[in-house]
Amino acid sequence: MKAIISHDIDHISVLEHTFKDAIIPKFMVRMHIELLAGKISLREYMLRWTDFFKNKWQNIDELITYNNINNVPSSFFIAVNRGIGLNYSNRAAFLWIEQMKHRNCEINIHGIEFENQDLINKEFELFGGLADRKNFGVRMHYVRNSAQTFNMLNKAGYSFDSTEHSFKDPYKIGNMWEFPFQIMDGWIIEDGKKWQSLNLEKAKEKTLKIIDQANQHNLKYLGIDFHDRYFSHSFKTWLNWYMWLVEYLKSNKIEFVNYGDAIKELEK
Ligand SMILES: [Zn+2]
Repeated sequence: MKAIISHDIDHISVLEHTFKDAIIPKFMVRMHIELLAGKISLREYMLRWTDFFKNKWQNIDELITYNNINNVPSSFFIAVNRGIGLNYSNRAAFLWIEQMKHRNCEINIHGIEFENQDLINKEFELFGGLADRKNFGVRMHYVRNSAQTFNMLNKAGYSFDSTEHSFKDPYKIGNMWEFPFQIMDGWIIEDGKKWQSLNLEKAKEKTLKIIDQANQHNLKYLGIDFHDRYFSHSFKTWLNWYMWLVEYLKSNKIEFVNYGDAIKELEK
């Protein structure tokens, strides 16, 4: 089994959210619940205020640097439309796409449109233009999909999608590869709530169970989604969980590849 780690970019700055959605009040409620429930330390709580006043809700550069040191190829999903709680502009996305290109990242769309072929096609073309790329994949924001989503993504021209959550090997839908994935940071650490509910030790236990399950299914690839937003000392459990996971996979001789590498292997 090899591992494919990827990162969804849901936020870039704090100010992109002002008055446009309920993200800032939700952020405030969440950090107070987490502090009072003893899930985060006073230091983490204070650091969240620091991020807030720095207007910085992404950790893309820091994450790429960490990945590079650990031979993890950095693969990102970045949005070109606004969606639930996702509000950054095309200009902000474009600036980060340029940065990610300079750092040799794999860049794909964090998709918003999932149920209308014309809008899916438009989103595909908009990203192709902004990123100046022809071959790229998609993961839907909030992994939203309907019965027709994957067929429509194939028709739009995506080379792959990684929205499905299941213990299956990659499979083809027309010309498009579907890469089911198994681990998402939020599913582990929030565990069905809207705030951190597991501590690091419990999060590790839960993750190991999923890795066991992936092994039992003899999967070719273990798919992991970690949001760059949480690669920060203000989300210490999330940060430590990610670094532990990378170390764990390394110590078990699991090789890291990106989607492009995996598609080449699958089509050999
Ligand atoms: Zn998302």
